[in-house]
Amino acid sequence: AVPDADRLVVGLNPQQREAVLHRGSPLLIVAGAGSGKTRVLTHRIAHLIATGEAWPSQILAITFTNKAANEMRERVGALLGGVAEGMWISTFHSACVRILRREIAELGYRSGFTIYDTHDSRTLLKRIIKEHHADADGLTPAAAQHRISQLKNELRDADDLARAEGAHSPADAALVDVFRDYDWALQHANALDFDDILVQTVHLLEAFPEVRRRYQRRFRHVLVDEYQDTNHAQYELIRLLATPAEEGGPAPELTVVGDSDQSIYAFRGADLRNITHFDEDFPGTRMILLEQNYRSTQRILSAANAVIGHNFDRADKNLWSALGDGDRITVYAGYSAHDEAQFVADEIRRLHREGLGWSDIAVFYRTNAQTRALEEILVRAGVPYRLIGGTRFYDRAEVKDALAYLIAVVNPADDLAVRRILNVPRRGIGPTTEQRLVTFAAREGIDLPAALVRAEEIGLGPKVTGAMTALGGALADARAALADQPLDGVVADLLDRVGLVRALRESQDPQDEARAENLDELLAQLVDYTEREADATLADFLADVQLTAAADELDAGQGAVSLMTLHTAKGLEYPAVFITGLEEGLLPHRMSLDEVGGIAEERRLFYVGITRAQRHLALSMAVSRTAYGQTNDQIPSRFLDEIPEDLLDWRQRPEEVGGVRALGRGGRWRDAEDDVRHDGRGRRALAGGARPTHADHPGRRPASGHRWANEITTADIPRGQVADLAEGDRIRHGSFGEGIVLQLTGRGAKQVATVRFDSGARKKLVVAVAPIERA
Ligand code: ATP
Ligand code: MG
Repeated sequence: AVPDADRLVVGLNPQQREAVLHRGSPLLIVAGAGSGKTRVLTHRIAHLIATGEAWPSQILAITFTNKAANEMRERVGALLGGVAEGMWISTFHSACVRILRREIAELGYRSGFTIYDTHDSRTLLKRIIKEHHADADGLTPAAAQHRISQLKNELRDADDLARAEGAHSPADAALVDVFRDYDWALQHANALDFDDILVQTVHLLEAFPEVRRRYQRRFRHVLVDEYQDTNHAQYELIRLLATPAEEGGPAPELTVVGDSDQSIYAFRGADLRNITHFDEDFPGTRMILLEQNYRSTQRILSAANAVIGHNFDRADKNLWSALGDGDRITVYAGYSAHDEAQFVADEIRRLHREGLGWSDIAVFYRTNAQTRALEEILVRAGVPYRLIGGTRFYDRAEVKDALAYLIAVVNPADDLAVRRILNVPRRGIGPTTEQRLVTFAAREGIDLPAALVRAEEIGLGPKVTGAMTALGGALADARAALADQPLDGVVADLLDRVGLVRALRESQDPQDEARAENLDELLAQLVDYTEREADATLADFLADVQLTAAADELDAGQGAVSLMTLHTAKGLEYPAVFITGLEEGLLPHRMSLDEVGGIAEERRLFYVGITRAQRHLALSMAVSRTAYGQTNDQIPSRFLDEIPEDLLDWRQRPEEVGGVRALGRGGRWRDAEDDVRHDGRGRRALAGGARPTHADHPGRRPASGHRWANEITTADIPRGQVADLAEGDRIRHGSFGEGIVLQLTGRGAKQVATVRFDSGARKKLVVAVAPIERA
């Protein structure tokens, strides 16, 4: 029984209600954090179903993480009293995999294709780069992977790259070949990397209008959360679905929600223009603004507003909260990372004593390296915690081995998987034997498992030949058994027969016992999965595993504090939030310092962090921190200065533990952006109303070698200097390596160089402050 639809708009404010009820034209909801964007999407879906305007199966909703998808599905289900089966609520990747599972034959793949995670593609790239001797041209697997991923997200392939204008360095030319071979190898292995999942779906809808029309008829409503972080390929996918294939053709109605102040994935190709140009892309758009924040108390919100107000070029928003002032924001400067962690642990225990559950508390950081001290202290303090998105279950070697066996069964063309297991556990198949097997398979035009079965024809010794035919037989039998036997039984038999678990159990290495338990856990998950998804195939299970492993395992479970990076925190909320490492070089991160727009993106990241907090927010830093075996004095983050002092409750100030004072009101940071856009005057970067010392000399710089008493610049971070830079010069950058100057604009302190690094990355750098030297 479907509940009364009107009930679904009770308790919403007028703008939210309008967003739920709007019909008939594209809908864009832009609003700050915690204003109910996600909630509106959820209620809108429920409303569409409750009124009978759409069947659950006619809804496609896209969220940023798997966890968000699960939550949304549960909420819609709860709102509807459990009639929500069959909705497509998922990430871009999961939705695309569902489409590809049905349609990929059109593109020349076979069903049962494998998904390569970033580690798999790195392994493949390593091999290809070696084959091409491209390492001699300065191409590293990491750089190639980064660049190829970037290109794919722009929907460009190796041919596009080859055609691209501009100087071709040897690394560039090598990349074209490596890219082409990489794509070829993937196809040959009947495999897709993460980016392909999107790219191939876009190709499919573009190249096959009848497939496109089928999905356009199927979905009546497409809804996208966190739209500010969509990249070009994702945008294209949405456009293909939501605009009619031909004049008057069917197309679903499109609803997107987003917040440009929370755009934090530019480094992965997210394009803010998708949101700012939405009404041009989708004519007739109705736009709705939400202004009330329902998540945080006013002081937390005021801090967030003050911080984000320092960004240029943004539409002013006026977020307010009716939840009362709340507590001030706790701030603590530790003398070391351990001292900082001790503060976090003590505060967590205090909040817990006062009645907060462990799972009501989250700790955020900019980089994963910061977790070490935190974990150490939390363990010692007896605080239960969960690392979100750290080393993941499916990344463990033994689990990947087991999965490779399953892939070899489902997709025998996947050489990478088959080669991974040839000698795991040890069966005497060394590199030479492996090569002979590969050559034999190529000559016969068969896949590796088929070649294993025919190992006798290769002419190797009897022992290794026996091992090979046994392995080939086990894979073939498992494949045959899948046709009529339950999944979990087939898998358990296979892993048993090839001796994977036994090898671990018999090992002397104490860690192998834990590894064996992980394999038990994998089997348990498979059993779970088969119970949840009635007609699921092994290929479905593998796709599910690859996708959840990739994105997020956010199920923090009950009774544990959540530890995660600021990026992972997007969309979530917690009664109490700790943001650690508020130091120059960490937050903002040093990689952002001399890139135009870099500081602004870091600021948005900090804004995302602050706005996760409902009632308690604590900020912390360390005045000295050890990284890579070196202890450095840290400068308090400029972002701390951007929060009005009366919102803060300092527990320990940096200068009390031998650190540099926070800059304080009236001081100012000069950053790359500032220098470029504002004549070095940076009027808008001034915090509060106080007059900075150098305001008496507007526009003038102190004599060389000096600076205004209260001015800290990015030049405080040691870096090189290059005079008389010219286009075509080769330079070396502290973080990005070597590259070539493509273009120079502006002069003096405002000079900006566009550099293409050998890694393929293209960056705009402020010459005066960037850590560069001639190469
Ligand atoms: P973010 O930008 O961080 O993703 P959001 O705009 O998606 O935030 P939601 O997560 O939907 O915001 O809402 C924030 C909190 O406010 C949630 O706990 C939600 O349930 C609550 N909320 C939203 N609207 C209302 C309302 N009208 N009445 C009561 N609570 C609300
Ligand atoms: Mg949200």
